[in-house]
Amino acid sequence: MTLATLAEVLKKANKGNYAVGAFNTSNLEVTKAIIDAAELQDAPVILQTSVGGLNYAGFDYLFSIAKTAAADPGVPVVLHLDHCADLKLIKKCIDAGYSSVMFDGSLLPFEKNVELTKQVVKMAREKNVSVEAELGTIGGAEDTVKSRRIIYTDPQKASEFAAETEIDALAIAIGTSHGAYKFNDSTNQLDIKRLSTIKKATQMPLVLHGASVVPRDLVSLSQDFGAILGSVQGVSEKELKKSVKNGINKVNVDTDLRLAFTAALRQSIMKNPREFDPRKLLLPSIQLMQNIVEGRIKLLGSSGKA
Ligand SMILES: [Zn+2]
Repeated sequence: MTLATLAEVLKKANKGNYAVGAFNTSNLEVTKAIIDAAELQDAPVILQTSVGGLNYAGFDYLFSIAKTAAADPGVPVVLHLDHCADLKLIKKCIDAGYSSVMFDGSLLPFEKNVELTKQVVKMAREKNVSVEAELGTIGGAEDTVKSRRIIYTDPQKASEFAAETEIDALAIAIGTSHGAYKFNDSTNQLDIKRLSTIKKATQMPLVLHGASVVPRDLVSLSQDFGAILGSVQGVSEKELKKSVKNGINKVNVDTDLRLAFTAALRQSIMKNPREFDPRKLLLPSIQLMQNIVEGRIKLLGSSGKA
Protein backbone atom coordinates (compact mmCIF):
# COMPACT_ATOMS: atom_id res chain seq x y z
CA MET A 1 0.00 0.00 0.00
CA THR A 2 1.45 3.35 -0.98
CA LEU A 3 -0.76 6.10 0.31
CA ALA A 4 -0.32 9.71 -0.63
CA THR A 5 -0.02 12.22 2.21
CA LEU A 6 -2.42 15.08 2.64
CA ALA A 7 0.53 17.48 2.57
CA GLU A 8 1.70 16.49 -0.91
CA VAL A 9 -1.77 16.32 -2.43
CA LEU A 10 -2.84 19.69 -0.99
CA LYS A 11 0.43 21.42 -1.78
CA LYS A 12 -0.26 20.75 -5.47
CA ALA A 13 -3.87 21.84 -5.10
CA ASN A 14 -2.81 25.06 -3.39
CA LYS A 15 -0.41 25.81 -6.21
CA GLY A 16 -2.93 24.91 -8.91
CA ASN A 17 -5.86 26.70 -7.24
CA TYR A 18 -8.21 23.72 -7.08
CA ALA A 19 -9.63 21.56 -4.29
CA VAL A 20 -9.45 17.84 -3.60
CA GLY A 21 -12.60 16.05 -2.48
CA ALA A 22 -12.53 14.36 0.92
CA PHE A 23 -15.25 11.76 1.17
CA ASN A 24 -16.31 9.95 4.33
CA THR A 25 -16.70 6.21 4.27
CA SER A 26 -17.85 3.69 6.82
CA ASN A 27 -18.36 0.59 4.69
CA LEU A 28 -17.44 -1.33 1.55
CA GLU A 29 -20.08 0.15 -0.77
CA VAL A 30 -19.20 3.78 -0.06
CA THR A 31 -15.47 3.08 -0.34
CA LYS A 32 -15.86 1.42 -3.73
CA ALA A 33 -17.94 4.30 -5.05
CA ILE A 34 -15.34 6.87 -3.97
CA ILE A 35 -12.31 5.03 -5.36
CA ASP A 36 -14.00 4.08 -8.65
CA ALA A 37 -15.05 7.69 -9.18
CA ALA A 38 -11.55 9.00 -8.49
CA GLU A 39 -10.08 6.54 -10.96
CA LEU A 40 -12.58 7.44 -13.65
CA GLN A 41 -11.85 11.13 -13.13
CA ASP A 42 -8.09 10.58 -12.86
CA ALA A 43 -8.23 12.63 -9.67
CA PRO A 44 -6.44 12.60 -6.32
CA VAL A 45 -8.86 11.71 -3.56
CA ILE A 46 -9.06 11.78 0.22
CA LEU A 47 -10.75 8.79 1.78
CA GLN A 48 -11.69 9.68 5.31
CA THR A 49 -13.13 7.87 8.28
CA SER A 50 -14.80 9.59 11.18
CA VAL A 51 -14.71 8.38 14.76
CA GLY A 52 -18.38 7.47 14.33
CA GLY A 53 -17.55 5.47 11.18
CA LEU A 54 -14.80 3.56 12.98
CA ASN A 55 -17.17 2.82 15.84
CA TYR A 56 -19.80 1.60 13.40
CA ALA A 57 -17.65 -0.74 11.32
CA GLY A 58 -14.94 -1.52 13.85
CA PHE A 59 -11.42 -0.16 13.42
CA ASP A 60 -9.85 -3.24 11.84
CA TYR A 61 -12.68 -3.87 9.37
CA LEU A 62 -12.82 -0.28 8.13
CA PHE A 63 -9.07 0.15 8.02
CA SER A 64 -8.71 -3.08 6.04
CA ILE A 65 -11.32 -2.00 3.51
CA ALA A 66 -9.66 1.39 3.08
CA LYS A 67 -6.21 -0.14 2.84
CA THR A 68 -7.38 -2.57 0.16
CA ALA A 69 -9.05 0.26 -1.74
CA ALA A 70 -5.86 2.27 -1.71
CA ALA A 71 -3.62 -0.66 -2.63
CA ASP A 72 -3.41 -0.18 -6.37
CA PRO A 73 -5.71 2.60 -7.46
CA GLY A 74 -3.61 4.40 -10.07
CA VAL A 75 -4.51 7.74 -8.49
CA PRO A 76 -3.16 9.33 -5.29
CA VAL A 77 -5.28 8.25 -2.32
CA VAL A 78 -4.93 9.86 1.11
CA LEU A 79 -6.28 7.89 4.05
CA HIS A 80 -7.38 10.47 6.59
CA LEU A 81 -8.89 10.40 10.07
CA ASP A 82 -11.67 13.00 10.24
CA HIS A 83 -12.38 15.13 13.38
CA CYS A 84 -10.71 13.52 16.35
CA ALA A 85 -10.04 14.98 19.77
CA ASP A 86 -8.76 11.69 21.22
CA LEU A 87 -4.96 11.57 21.08
CA LYS A 88 -4.93 7.83 21.73
CA LEU A 89 -7.07 7.11 18.68
CA ILE A 90 -4.95 9.51 16.62
CA LYS A 91 -1.85 7.59 17.64
CA LYS A 92 -3.54 4.29 16.78
CA CYS A 93 -4.32 5.58 13.28
CA ILE A 94 -0.79 6.89 12.77
CA ASP A 95 0.69 3.56 13.89
CA ALA A 96 -1.75 1.54 11.78
CA GLY A 97 -0.81 3.37 8.57
CA TYR A 98 -3.13 6.31 7.99
CA SER A 99 -1.33 8.96 5.95
CA SER A 100 -3.18 11.90 7.52
CA VAL A 101 -5.08 12.77 10.69
CA MET A 102 -7.23 15.65 11.86
CA PHE A 103 -6.91 16.86 15.40
CA ASP A 104 -10.03 18.82 16.30
CA GLY A 105 -9.36 21.11 19.22
CA SER A 106 -11.77 23.74 17.93
CA LEU A 107 -13.84 23.74 21.11
CA LEU A 108 -10.77 24.34 23.29
CA PRO A 109 -9.31 27.72 24.21
CA PHE A 110 -6.79 28.95 21.62
CA GLU A 111 -3.65 28.18 23.67
CA LYS A 112 -4.81 24.66 24.53
CA ASN A 113 -5.72 23.99 20.90
CA VAL A 114 -2.22 25.12 19.87
CA GLU A 115 -0.57 22.99 22.53
CA LEU A 116 -2.39 19.75 21.67
CA THR A 117 -2.15 20.33 17.93
CA LYS A 118 1.61 20.67 18.31
CA GLN A 119 1.72 17.37 20.16
CA VAL A 120 -0.15 15.69 17.31
CA VAL A 121 2.14 17.26 14.71
CA LYS A 122 5.19 15.94 16.58
CA MET A 123 3.70 12.46 16.78
CA ALA A 124 2.68 12.48 13.12
CA ARG A 125 5.96 13.81 11.70
CA GLU A 126 7.86 10.79 12.98
CA LYS A 127 5.88 8.63 10.57
CA ASN A 128 5.55 11.12 7.72
CA VAL A 129 1.83 11.56 8.45
CA SER A 130 0.07 14.86 7.70
CA VAL A 131 -2.03 16.87 10.14
CA GLU A 132 -5.17 18.94 9.68
CA ALA A 133 -6.41 21.08 12.57
CA GLU A 134 -9.34 23.42 13.08
CA LEU A 135 -9.79 26.97 14.25
CA GLY A 136 -13.22 28.46 14.73
CA THR A 137 -16.24 26.17 14.94
CA ILE A 138 -18.33 24.69 12.17
CA GLY A 139 -21.97 24.47 13.18
CA GLY A 140 -24.40 21.58 12.97
CA ALA A 141 -23.99 17.94 13.88
CA GLU A 142 -22.38 14.91 12.27
CA ASP A 143 -21.64 11.64 14.04
CA THR A 144 -19.81 12.53 17.23
CA VAL A 145 -19.12 16.13 16.17
CA LYS A 146 -21.50 18.77 17.46
CA SER A 147 -21.41 22.49 17.83
CA ARG A 148 -24.44 24.61 18.50
CA ARG A 149 -23.25 27.66 16.68
CA ILE A 150 -20.71 28.80 14.16
CA ILE A 151 -17.76 30.81 15.44
CA TYR A 152 -16.14 32.34 12.38
CA THR A 153 -12.38 31.92 12.10
CA ASP A 154 -10.35 35.02 12.92
CA PRO A 155 -7.76 35.60 10.14
CA GLN A 156 -5.07 36.96 12.47
CA LYS A 157 -5.50 34.03 14.86
CA ALA A 158 -5.44 31.62 11.92
CA SER A 159 -2.08 32.93 10.82
CA GLU A 160 -0.69 32.66 14.38
CA PHE A 161 -2.13 29.18 14.77
CA ALA A 162 -0.65 27.94 11.49
CA ALA A 163 2.79 29.37 12.23
CA GLU A 164 2.94 27.97 15.75
CA THR A 165 1.64 24.48 15.01
CA GLU A 166 3.18 23.88 11.55
CA ILE A 167 0.12 21.92 10.45
CA ASP A 168 -0.37 20.87 6.82
CA ALA A 169 -3.97 22.03 6.43
CA LEU A 170 -6.32 24.28 8.37
CA ALA A 171 -10.08 23.80 8.66
CA ILE A 172 -11.83 27.13 8.94
CA ALA A 173 -15.35 28.31 9.72
CA ILE A 174 -16.83 30.66 7.13
CA GLY A 175 -20.53 29.83 7.47
CA THR A 176 -20.92 26.15 6.63
CA SER A 177 -22.27 23.57 9.07
CA HIS A 178 -22.35 19.80 9.27
CA GLY A 179 -25.39 17.76 8.30
CA ALA A 180 -28.28 18.33 5.89
CA TYR A 181 -29.80 21.38 7.59
CA LYS A 182 -27.20 24.04 7.00
CA PHE A 183 -29.11 27.27 6.62
CA ASN A 184 -32.28 28.64 8.16
CA ASP A 185 -32.85 31.16 5.42
CA SER A 186 -32.42 30.98 1.66
CA THR A 187 -29.37 33.27 1.47
CA ASN A 188 -26.96 30.40 2.22
CA GLN A 189 -23.95 32.57 1.62
CA LEU A 190 -20.45 31.92 2.85
CA ASP A 191 -18.11 34.58 4.16
CA ILE A 192 -15.85 34.60 1.10
CA LYS A 193 -14.21 37.87 2.09
CA ARG A 194 -13.08 36.33 5.36
CA LEU A 195 -11.83 33.28 3.47
CA SER A 196 -9.66 35.32 1.16
CA THR A 197 -8.26 37.32 4.10
CA ILE A 198 -7.39 34.04 5.87
CA LYS A 199 -5.76 32.76 2.67
CA LYS A 200 -3.64 35.88 2.32
CA ALA A 201 -2.63 35.67 5.97
CA THR A 202 -1.73 31.97 5.97
CA GLN A 203 -0.94 31.06 2.33
CA MET A 204 -1.62 27.46 3.28
CA PRO A 205 -4.08 24.73 2.21
CA LEU A 206 -7.49 25.48 3.72
CA VAL A 207 -10.29 23.03 4.37
CA LEU A 208 -14.04 23.48 4.06
CA HIS A 209 -16.13 21.20 6.27
CA GLY A 210 -19.89 20.90 6.16
CA ALA A 211 -19.75 21.45 2.41
CA SER A 212 -22.38 19.06 1.07
CA VAL A 213 -24.63 20.48 -1.62
CA VAL A 214 -27.75 18.47 -0.67
CA PRO A 215 -28.79 18.27 -4.35
CA ARG A 216 -32.50 18.83 -4.97
CA ASP A 217 -32.79 15.75 -7.19
CA LEU A 218 -31.46 13.52 -4.40
CA VAL A 219 -33.90 15.07 -1.96
CA SER A 220 -36.78 14.57 -4.43
CA LEU A 221 -35.78 10.98 -5.15
CA SER A 222 -35.66 10.25 -1.41
CA GLN A 223 -39.02 11.89 -0.86
CA ASP A 224 -40.59 10.10 -3.84
CA PHE A 225 -39.78 6.84 -2.10
CA GLY A 226 -40.91 7.69 1.38
CA ALA A 227 -38.25 9.83 3.05
CA ILE A 228 -39.32 12.68 5.31
CA LEU A 229 -36.56 15.27 5.13
CA GLY A 230 -38.14 18.62 5.97
CA SER A 231 -36.31 21.81 5.09
CA VAL A 232 -32.91 20.41 4.16
CA GLN A 233 -30.49 22.85 2.58
CA GLY A 234 -26.86 22.59 1.53
CA VAL A 235 -24.13 24.83 0.16
CA SER A 236 -24.89 25.93 -3.40
CA GLU A 237 -22.53 24.80 -6.15
CA LYS A 238 -21.91 28.46 -6.90
CA GLU A 239 -20.72 29.20 -3.36
CA LEU A 240 -18.60 26.06 -3.43
CA LYS A 241 -16.88 27.17 -6.63
CA LYS A 242 -16.30 30.64 -5.19
CA SER A 243 -14.73 29.18 -2.08
CA VAL A 244 -12.33 27.06 -4.17
CA LYS A 245 -11.43 30.10 -6.24
CA ASN A 246 -10.64 31.99 -3.06
CA GLY A 247 -8.38 29.44 -1.42
CA ILE A 248 -10.16 26.28 -0.28
CA ASN A 249 -8.12 23.17 -1.22
CA LYS A 250 -9.95 20.35 0.58
CA VAL A 251 -13.71 19.98 0.57
CA ASN A 252 -15.38 17.49 2.89
CA VAL A 253 -18.43 15.58 1.71
CA ASP A 254 -20.40 13.16 3.83
CA THR A 255 -24.09 14.11 3.85
CA ASP A 256 -24.43 13.97 0.04
CA LEU A 257 -23.16 10.39 -0.05
CA ARG A 258 -25.53 9.40 2.74
CA LEU A 259 -28.39 10.96 0.81
CA ALA A 260 -27.39 9.24 -2.43
CA PHE A 261 -26.94 5.88 -0.74
CA THR A 262 -30.33 5.92 0.95
CA ALA A 263 -32.23 7.55 -1.92
CA ALA A 264 -31.13 4.83 -4.34
CA LEU A 265 -31.72 2.13 -1.76
CA ARG A 266 -35.25 3.33 -1.04
CA GLN A 267 -36.03 3.31 -4.75
CA SER A 268 -34.38 -0.05 -5.29
CA ILE A 269 -36.34 -1.75 -2.51
CA MET A 270 -39.68 -0.19 -3.42
CA LYS A 271 -39.31 -0.98 -7.12
CA ASN A 272 -38.17 -4.56 -6.59
CA PRO A 273 -40.48 -6.01 -3.96
CA ARG A 274 -39.54 -9.59 -4.90
CA GLU A 275 -35.81 -9.01 -4.65
CA PHE A 276 -34.10 -9.93 -1.40
CA ASP A 277 -30.47 -10.20 -2.46
CA PRO A 278 -28.82 -7.20 -0.77
CA ARG A 279 -26.06 -7.16 -3.39
CA LYS A 280 -28.56 -6.52 -6.17
CA LEU A 281 -30.46 -3.97 -4.12
CA LEU A 282 -27.26 -2.10 -3.25
CA LEU A 283 -25.80 -1.79 -6.75
CA PRO A 284 -27.82 1.35 -7.64
CA SER A 285 -26.60 2.97 -4.41
CA ILE A 286 -22.97 2.41 -5.36
CA GLN A 287 -23.61 3.80 -8.83
CA LEU A 288 -25.42 6.90 -7.58
CA MET A 289 -22.73 7.66 -4.98
CA GLN A 290 -20.09 7.24 -7.68
CA ASN A 291 -21.94 9.78 -9.85
CA ILE A 292 -22.06 12.23 -6.95
CA VAL A 293 -18.34 11.84 -6.27
CA GLU A 294 -17.47 12.28 -9.95
CA GLY A 295 -19.61 15.40 -10.18
CA ARG A 296 -18.01 16.88 -7.08
CA ILE A 297 -14.48 16.14 -8.33
CA LYS A 298 -15.28 18.04 -11.55
CA LEU A 299 -16.78 20.95 -9.63
CA LEU A 300 -13.72 21.25 -7.40
CA GLY A 301 -11.39 21.26 -10.39
CA SER A 302 -9.38 18.16 -9.45
CA SER A 303 -10.40 16.05 -12.44
CA GLY A 304 -7.29 15.01 -14.40
CA LYS A 305 -4.98 16.17 -11.58
CA ALA A 306 -3.83 12.69 -10.45
ZN1 LIG B 1 -16.21 18.19 9.60
